[in-house]
Amino acid sequence: MNGNQHLFIPGPTNIPEPVRQAMNIPMEDMRAPDFPDFVSGLLTDLKKVYRMEAGRVFLFPSSGTGAWESAIQNTLNSGEKVLMSRFGQFSLLWVDMAERLGLDVDLCEVEWGKGVPADDYKSKLAADTSHSIKAVFCTQNETATGVKSDIAAVRAALDETGHPAMLFVDGVSSIASVEFEMDKWGVDLAVSGSQKGFMLPAGLGILGVSDKALEANKAIGNSGMNRCYFSFEDMIKLNDTGYFPYTPATQLLRGLRVSLDMLIEVGMENVWERHNRLAEGVRLAVAAWDGCELVSRGPEWASDTVSAIYTPDGVDARDVISAGFYKYNTSFGTGLNKLMGKAFRIGHLGSLNPVMLCGALSAAEMALTDAGAKIEPGSGVAAAQAHYCATTPSK
Ligand SMILES: *Cc1c(COP(=O)(O)O)cnc(C)c1O
Repeated sequence: MNGNQHLFIPGPTNIPEPVRQAMNIPMEDMRAPDFPDFVSGLLTDLKKVYRMEAGRVFLFPSSGTGAWESAIQNTLNSGEKVLMSRFGQFSLLWVDMAERLGLDVDLCEVEWGKGVPADDYKSKLAADTSHSIKAVFCTQNETATGVKSDIAAVRAALDETGHPAMLFVDGVSSIASVEFEMDKWGVDLAVSGSQKGFMLPAGLGILGVSDKALEANKAIGNSGMNRCYFSFEDMIKLNDTGYFPYTPATQLLRGLRVSLDMLIEVGMENVWERHNRLAEGVRLAVAAWDGCELVSRGPEWASDTVSAIYTPDGVDARDVISAGFYKYNTSFGTGLNKLMGKAFRIGHLGSLNPVMLCGALSAAEMALTDAGAKIEPGSGVAAAQAHYCATTPSK
């Protein structure tokens, strides 16, 4: 193969060269006397990305799913009631985990293409006068359908009903990419992972925890769910000395140092703006492709980190993905679960720029054509180009 393999899946994302080089180092002593300084800088700067001042951030050597598990095990008890919604493969898996860990899930089933039903949540919270609901769960960005949800609206639903439930957010494909406000939105547990907006390999589960959730953890104590590897208590004890209760993934931490430097230097508002600008180009391209359509049902639901795209009738999305991979060295995301064969996904989060996305859209047009779609070659690229010409900052 000549040239690069191109990665346009919604995680793992492209790793910036300085981040990759920062990880290419000899193994180091994770009990070295200067290690605590390094760790405390990471934990402090992660809070800047999460937009939180109080509370704590935990870093587990796991993927995002481990941080999900930790959030539940440390703050809730088996049999407790939680409010959740399901509208794609990732929200579906979170519900599955909650049920398997013994929670009593009050489930809102939502059409795939829409997100967290804030109004339904509000009615359920208002009706729950005995406050039996202990936590409300939101998948901020449903990576399978390219749908974002309004977390501020869920906060408002809790506030307006005076409901004390904790607010859990799956931010795996949104934190460090699109607007996320731990403090402002009163989020209690926010889950992320290293391989999406943080532009690292998989292997770090990242969890933001509010003071209220830390209190819930203390209150539960030994009467809660069994937990060991993911225990907050063990992590807090060792983090307070600057170390970890088990071997940390030191290379990933060195990469995280550089990725945090990059995010903070650019500024979170600018990172969010860039994701919106790049995503809009992809959406305009999809609109220009005859017979193609976003899975998200309207602009208010469209995600700035990933677009899931229905292929035209009679065109199998798996053929698009296969042509992209074998002929054009380009990976697109597959249609998950019931979207299998019907949709493919373009990931547009992390280390990307307009020219890279024009390349992705061009590859998508060739692959769609190969798969039998009657789109006009160049139509999507032209729409994206016009948008990028008009909106890309000149400095
Ligand atoms: C990727 C993803 C996950 C799963 O994270 P892993 O790191 O694969 O465990 C969970 N939720 C969302 C929204 C995701 O995009």
